[in-house]
Amino acid sequence: MSKRITVAKGDGIGPEIMDTTLKILDAAGAELEYDFIEVGEKVYKKGHKSGITPESWDTLRRNKIFLKAPITTPQGGGYKSLNVTIRKSLGLFSNVRPVRAYTPYVKSNFPKMDLVIVRENEEDLYAGIEHQQTPEVIQCLKLVSKPGSERIIRYAFEYARTNNRKKVTCMSKDNIMKHTDGMFHSIFDEVAAEYPEIKTEHKIIDIGAALLAERPETFDVIVTLNLYGDIISDIAAQVAGSVGLGGSANIGTDFGMFEAIHGSAPDIACKGIANPSGLINAAVMMLVHIGDNKTAELISNAWLKTLEDGYHTGEIFNKDLSYKKVGTHEFADEIIKRLGKIPFVLTPVTFKEGDHQINIKISVTPPMDKELTGVDVFIDWSEHGRKPDILGKRLELLTKSKLRLKMITNRGVKVYPDGIPETFCTDHWRCRFQSENEIKGRPKKGEISHTDILTLLDEIHHDGLDFIKIENLYNFSGARAYSLGQGE
Ligand code: NAD
Repeated sequence: MSKRITVAKGDGIGPEIMDTTLKILDAAGAELEYDFIEVGEKVYKKGHKSGITPESWDTLRRNKIFLKAPITTPQGGGYKSLNVTIRKSLGLFSNVRPVRAYTPYVKSNFPKMDLVIVRENEEDLYAGIEHQQTPEVIQCLKLVSKPGSERIIRYAFEYARTNNRKKVTCMSKDNIMKHTDGMFHSIFDEVAAEYPEIKTEHKIIDIGAALLAERPETFDVIVTLNLYGDIISDIAAQVAGSVGLGGSANIGTDFGMFEAIHGSAPDIACKGIANPSGLINAAVMMLVHIGDNKTAELISNAWLKTLEDGYHTGEIFNKDLSYKKVGTHEFADEIIKRLGKIPFVLTPVTFKEGDHQINIKISVTPPMDKELTGVDVFIDWSEHGRKPDILGKRLELLTKSKLRLKMITNRGVKVYPDGIPETFCTDHWRCRFQSENEIKGRPKKGEISHTDILTLLDEIHHDGLDFIKIENLYNFSGARAYSLGQGE
């Protein structure tokens, strides 16, 4: 029975590469029917600031599978990225991007490079929660959840298992972000123990990214948080020498969106020279996802054979490696001619039965003992030459609640008590209040209540100070669940 999918032709080179991709799908006998929707520039310009209309959402919801060409995101203004909106709205938690070299037919410094980046797609700094709090300081919230982390990490291991991959590398920055990235790393270690046949390792993201650029052949599957994943995906694609070749899948529990990794390339639009390979490879990933391995193999092998026979679009054409420079449509026609053939030098593709079945079960978070132990009050203050001691002495006079000033930090560095005069201070002060017992290292359970915080805030307000936000300090299951200030 044929499957209805949603298709968007997008902007720039989108319509050209989508038309050729659909032509190949049809020639290969893919049992698909298409509902076309309009997304992107034209929709933005009609006044839909999300780049998509409510009717198109209905189509996406109904069909669940979306093949999307790249779109142009207008710069500036109130436009939100449509990709981010779709990923988050449809719960597409996993962004899977295989990147490999196709030497000797496409030039690359790393002929054995063949890796897959599994990027968390919904959380982290991409929650998009930003606030300006003082004239000098703007905040962006980094949100990392336990179920979100567990889900993407399990997805990476299941992907490795079903695709016969040997190693999963986790990348995070848990030497600095000990709570958010620290949780991601520790969940990785826990889940890894359930997959003893797969080698695992952890790399701090900065050296991880450097190694990815220098020796990409040593990586297999990489799982990481949203922002790091975004950055290393582009490094990997660039290093492979093939930004125009890669496809990617955005996978959720119920929905899937498949697209090329490149953008709408307005500089070469309507010239008939764009490489449609990225979208063709995305369509192959889509076919595997819906269980049509046969058609996926047929197209993938014909595509590899076309590369091998030297029919290359302009951006990968090389007079020593290529046989003929072809345009978008001619390239597609050469692929269609080779349907049923397999490559000779490049490894032919085979998909196993069940490759598409990645079902993730995540643990239920058990109830935890949660104890309020204090509060960080953030204050906008620029008086008296911003001398921390003046603010500190003033806050120490506030004694109506059980909370007492413990320390003040500025951009995370302790400046009171006992700061050093060289520290540069902005107008944004984090003032930590805890009970006297807690400060003296003799914590008493249940000593602080929300009423103490309200009393303290009322006192701060009446003292003429502008508190801009608070963060409660909690212990979870008896362990401190907030970071210390540098120098605290
Ligand atoms: P881009 O990927 O569109 O282009 C970068 C360079 O690569 C250009 O020189 C282009 O000509 C070339 N290129 C890209 N795809 C190619 C192909 N298939 N064949 C041959 N050459 C190709 O990146 P950009 O110029 O930074 O972005 C252009 C627009 O695309 C922007 O509006 C951006 O927001 C959007 N964009 C959309 C997506 C998406 O829809 N998923 C992704 C990235 C960028």
